[in-house]
Amino acid sequence: MEITSKSKEAGSMNMSGFDHPEFDGHEKIVFGHDARTGLYTVIAIHDTRLGPALGGCRMWPYQNTEEALTDALRLSRGMTYKNAMAGLDYGGGKAVIIADPKKDKSPELMHAFGKKVDALGGLYITGEDVGMTPADMEAIGGATEHVRGTSKTHRGDPSPYTALGVYCGIQSALKHLYGSSDLHGRTVSVQGLGNVGFTLARFLHDAGADLVVSDINQSAVGRAVSAFGAKSVDTNDAHKVEADVFAPCAMGAGINSDTIPELGAPIIAGSANNQLAEPSDGEALAQRGILYAPDYVINAGGVIALARHDVEDDVLEADVRDIGDTLTEIFLRAQAENAPTATVADRIAEERLSAADRQGRS
Ligand code: NAD
Repeated sequence: MEITSKSKEAGSMNMSGFDHPEFDGHEKIVFGHDARTGLYTVIAIHDTRLGPALGGCRMWPYQNTEEALTDALRLSRGMTYKNAMAGLDYGGGKAVIIADPKKDKSPELMHAFGKKVDALGGLYITGEDVGMTPADMEAIGGATEHVRGTSKTHRGDPSPYTALGVYCGIQSALKHLYGSSDLHGRTVSVQGLGNVGFTLARFLHDAGADLVVSDINQSAVGRAVSAFGAKSVDTNDAHKVEADVFAPCAMGAGINSDTIPELGAPIIAGSANNQLAEPSDGEALAQRGILYAPDYVINAGGVIALARHDVEDDVLEADVRDIGDTLTEIFLRAQAENAPTATVADRIAEERLSAADRQGRS
C-alpha cells in the first residue's frame, strides 16, 4: 500500500505527539519505515514497569498516519492493563503496519518489520493480531527473536486458551450470581462462532448448557446447531435473548446505550475486545444490576499462552483457569465498593503497576 503525500498530509492535520488524545504517558513511540519493502509501521510501547512490552502486531489499511497512531496508542495501553491483570511479568505494547493484508503482504515486508522490532533490543515483543498469520510470525522470526507465535515458541493457535479463559469466567460469574457454577440447565447466548466462540460453545455444551447461537456467517451457525443442538437467532437479537449469560465473541462496542436497555441476560461474559462503547456503559450495566466480566480480563487466555510459551501444558492451563479467580476478586470488590466491575478491574491493574513501580524504585 502506498502512503501518498496526500494521505500523510491528511493524517498530519490532526496529528500531535504528546498532545494526542490517546497519548497516555507512553514510554516510547517508534515510526518505522523501510523504502525497499514499503514498510510503514508504528510501534507503541506504553508501559514496561512489569517487564518488556508484549502485544501483537496489526496489519490494516489505515487511511493515514493519524489513524494508525491512534490505534497503536490505544491498543498498547490496553495491553498494559490486560497483561497486568493476567499476572504476567510483561508490560503493554502494540505495533501496527499500514498495509492491506490481502494485497500488500510479503515475507520481505515482514522481515523488515522484524528488524524494526529487533532494533528495540527486546523492549517490545511482537505477536499475531488482526491481519497477521503464523506464516508472518515465521518471517518476522527470521529477523528477531523478540516474536511469539513462531514454530520455535508456539504451541499453536492461542484461541482455545482464550475460549478456556472465557469458559472459566462464565463459571465464576454464575457462581457469584447464583452460588453455583454448574452449567446444567443454564442458557448462554453466544454471539460470534469464530475461533474463540465455537470452541467456547463446545466447552459450554459439554458442561450441559443450552446454547443460543448467532453469527453473520450462516455456515458457522449451521455447524453449531447440528453439533450442539443449539437454537439460532439473528445476530442483531443475540443480546436480547432471555438467557443466563450473553457471551459476545464477535465485534467490539456491542454494549452501548442502545443495547443496554434491551439486554436479556444478567451476565455479560465473552471474548470480544472493547465490548463497552463508552466507559460510562460500565456504570449503566451496574445500575441495571448486570454482572459484566471486563473484556480484557476474561479474554486474556490467548496472551497468557503467548507469554507462558515455555511452560508445560498443565501449568499453562492452570494459569488460564486462574482468570476465573481474578474475576471473582473483581466481582467481590465491585460489590464491596459499589463500583462497576470495569472500574474495579482498571483500579486493580493500576495498583499492580504502582506496586511494580515502587519495587523498581526501592
Ligand atoms: P474470528 O475472526 O475467528 O471469529 C469472529 C466471528 O465473528 C466470525 O465467525 C465472524 O463471522 C463473526 N462475526 C463478525 N461480525 C459479526 C457480527 N456483527 N455478528 C455476529 N457475528 C459476527 O475471531 P476470534 O479469534 O474468534 O475472536 C473473536 C473476538 O474475540 C474478537 O473480538 C477478538 O478480538 C477477541 N479476542 C480473540 C482472541 C483470540 O485468541 N483469538 C483473544 C482475545 C480477544
